[in-house]
Amino acid sequence: MSDQDKAALLDTLRDIVGPAGCLEGPDIEPRHYQDVLGARAEAPMILLRPANTEEVSAILKACHAYLQPVAVQGGMTGLVSAAAPRQGEVAISLERMRRIIEIDPYTATMTVEAGVPLQSIQEEAEAHGLLFPLDLGARGSCTIGGNLSTNAGGNRVIRYGMTRDLVLGLEAVLADGTVIDGLNKLRKNNTGYDLKQLFIGSEGTLGLITRAVIKLLPKPSSQAVALCAVSDFERVADLLVHCQAKLGANLSAFEVIWRNTWELIDQHVEHVSMPLQSEQPFFVLVESMGSHGDKDAELFLQVLESASEQGLISDVVVAGDSERIRKLWAVRDAAAEIYPVLGYMHTFDVSLNVGDMGYFGEEVEKRLRQQWPEAIIGLFGHIGDGNVHILVRIGPDTRELHLQIDEIVYGLIQELKGSVSAEHGIGMLKKPFLSCSRSTEELALMRSLKQNLDPQGILNPGRVL
Ligand code: ZN
Repeated sequence: MSDQDKAALLDTLRDIVGPAGCLEGPDIEPRHYQDVLGARAEAPMILLRPANTEEVSAILKACHAYLQPVAVQGGMTGLVSAAAPRQGEVAISLERMRRIIEIDPYTATMTVEAGVPLQSIQEEAEAHGLLFPLDLGARGSCTIGGNLSTNAGGNRVIRYGMTRDLVLGLEAVLADGTVIDGLNKLRKNNTGYDLKQLFIGSEGTLGLITRAVIKLLPKPSSQAVALCAVSDFERVADLLVHCQAKLGANLSAFEVIWRNTWELIDQHVEHVSMPLQSEQPFFVLVESMGSHGDKDAELFLQVLESASEQGLISDVVVAGDSERIRKLWAVRDAAAEIYPVLGYMHTFDVSLNVGDMGYFGEEVEKRLRQQWPEAIIGLFGHIGDGNVHILVRIGPDTRELHLQIDEIVYGLIQELKGSVSAEHGIGMLKKPFLSCSRSTEELALMRSLKQNLDPQGILNPGRVL
């Protein structure tokens, strides 16, 4: 773009959003330079903070006309290097679009703008005696627009599904500024293609999500959590089947911590005290949520007792009050706190068949140790959903090794027909490995969708494909 065109485009963009809606140069806070992964720290050409859908539409129309690439930003809590701008990109942050537009108790829906933080949605639902079940560690800073565009997962997928399962309607703006208004609240709507799903999980590469109608659910009134020590992975898998069969819909989390991660938490996360002393190789957090108070608690204890009788668990602590429940969840949540204490780590988010997971844990460690015998390795994850996270620390800053490590981990994932991204997305980080989990034909169809919806390639270019 010539300097003259660039100046004209910037003037147009400034006019669209007004002084309150744009920041330039040193006024742009560094948090708009990089996401949590921190792969790069590039200042955007200009930071636009539109106040409504019309402004988003006008921005994209102008950028489309000038072939100007944009980086779309939510809460910047992503882990795959998607929202951080690349050189010469205009950043569009939806942080000013944070209105909760409506709660409809009859359809049990909430209509929100893309910039509303997840936690605000959870709290608003709760104030109405309802539940928005999407929950993840970054709840305070991530936004619903980011959750939607990455199809975020989190801790309760086993019961309520991924973000895409919690959406009824969506408004999105196409690359050329066209607004697609699909903000309906209908549970049943078989009228051709489900267009909203094009925008959910496509990481802002096909359109920019501006508003959504999300599903709310009845708020459970009972909660109980157990932390179990288990002697091998086969028993972990059998315990999952046992809990699914006996707890039915009450099963709301099934999280597993491998012993290696357990020890890292014990040694490095000071504010957490381990509620169990056990030499077993696996620890499982099981949660039940229901709406029949005492009956639910009784059922939960019975299920654990029968698991124990069948030899599935060797030790267990149970929590029924909120303080003790919080303490057990703190152990699981601490898996995400090792990274900040220990320093630079390579982190992975992969999906597998549950039956392959025991082998995967041993094999991935074996293959990594062949190269780096002293590596610190930790596994944990949402095993009820077949999702495991892996932490690998080789040295103080081993960024330059990341492709080498990726090849080992994703090579094994490909052998086991798993997915290289369970819930974090592809961004730029995992782009070289997308073909490990997607066929040539699937990739060709993705490219033709991208070409059709964003012919100039201005939306989050270089991400995903
Ligand atoms: Zn996770």
